[in-house]
Amino acid sequence: MNTTYEKETICIQSGWKPKNGEPRVLPICQSTTFKYETSEQMGRLFDLEESGYFYTRLQNPTNDFVAQKICELEGGAAAMLTSSGQAANYYAVFNICEAGDHVVLSSTVYGGTFNLLTCTMKKMGISCTVVDPDWDYEKLSEAFRPNTKCVLAETIANPALVILDIEKFAKVAHDHQVPLIVDNTFPTPINCNPFKWGADIVTHSTTKYMDGHAMCVGGAIVDSGNFDWAAYPDKFPGLCYPDESYHGVVYTEKFGKAAYITKATSQLMRDLGSIQSPQNAFLLNVGLETLHLRMPRHCENAQRVAEYLEQNDKVAWVNYPGLKSCKYYDLAQKYMPKGTCGVISFGLKGGRKAAEEMMDKLKLAAIVTHVADARTCVLHPASHTHRQMNDEQLKEAGVAPDLIRLSVGIENVEDIIRDLEQAL
Ligand SMILES: *Cc1c(COP(=O)(O)O)cnc(C)c1O
Repeated sequence: MNTTYEKETICIQSGWKPKNGEPRVLPICQSTTFKYETSEQMGRLFDLEESGYFYTRLQNPTNDFVAQKICELEGGAAAMLTSSGQAANYYAVFNICEAGDHVVLSSTVYGGTFNLLTCTMKKMGISCTVVDPDWDYEKLSEAFRPNTKCVLAETIANPALVILDIEKFAKVAHDHQVPLIVDNTFPTPINCNPFKWGADIVTHSTTKYMDGHAMCVGGAIVDSGNFDWAAYPDKFPGLCYPDESYHGVVYTEKFGKAAYITKATSQLMRDLGSIQSPQNAFLLNVGLETLHLRMPRHCENAQRVAEYLEQNDKVAWVNYPGLKSCKYYDLAQKYMPKGTCGVISFGLKGGRKAAEEMMDKLKLAAIVTHVADARTCVLHPASHTHRQMNDEQLKEAGVAPDLIRLSVGIENVEDIIRDLEQAL
């Protein structure tokens, strides 16, 4: 595999590389199953003795070509697609945690991820300690326990837009012998490569910028291949000791840097089945082909809109990591010098009521649950995505009751500003 191409080229050319006479465009392998000449061959696949496709609940070639592209964009060792971002974060954690284990979770993660860890996985016997990503190393260290198996955080938190100090988090995780998992949905690999700063595993909701057109719910997990599981076999028995459900295979011994993703595919995907449909993977791939063009435009437009909002006297506060006034400006410059994302949060002097009125008056920007696609859209997290949280949890998540999340699209920026102006 080449690693010499730049990201713009990877977006277009990586993944599916047709051989002589094959289709130029990634084919959709719309097939549940795959044919073999002998029963012996098929048996070897089931023993993981040979690699090959047999059933789309586990793996499908269309998905794998798209996962390969995302893997290269992140600079990883192995990757897989999942049916949603939720499934990606769930598998990423569950692949190395079981009942009795513990996770250190950043308080500012997406509401769905917060729920997944603090409610649903708690019912599975996996507990977590919620930490403020701005805490210093010593304070963060106090959250770790002997049964802690990973740290989970977001590079840019949705919707609080907290920029993660990735190096600090990687260090504290590694000093406690566990990997750092980061959800890199908002900056995308175009603006941030967490592996460069010490993160071990990256997850994505491909539903957002990667697809970019609000067409398909999807997710991805990328492993850097850098975390040395075998150094702590008792901490990660699922990777380092024989898997009885696969005739005693030891993933770290047999698959090396691909151990983590192979286990997630052959065990979790087999048993839980959150595969992305090949049709959706095809559409995701079309989105990825322009990701490198869209991300800079999202950032440019958001910067202009944030500056406009900051000088508008109806606006109480604006949070955008590209603004010098933002608490996270310096961290954004360090980890995402080319820009962060297209999402801005702000509040109005009239508070929650004014926010709702303003949103109803918008003509171009639509009220949708979605975020991070080509069309400008708005959401009021306290009444929508985060409504399951109480006031204390909202505060910890960095979501003020009056917070409006504005996802700036790639339309003409003057039109977006005019729309905001008439609504304000
Ligand atoms: C949307 C989102 C998710 C969940 O992804 P789905 O594709 O909606 O399941 C996870 N993390 C972040 C940061 C998100 O924005």
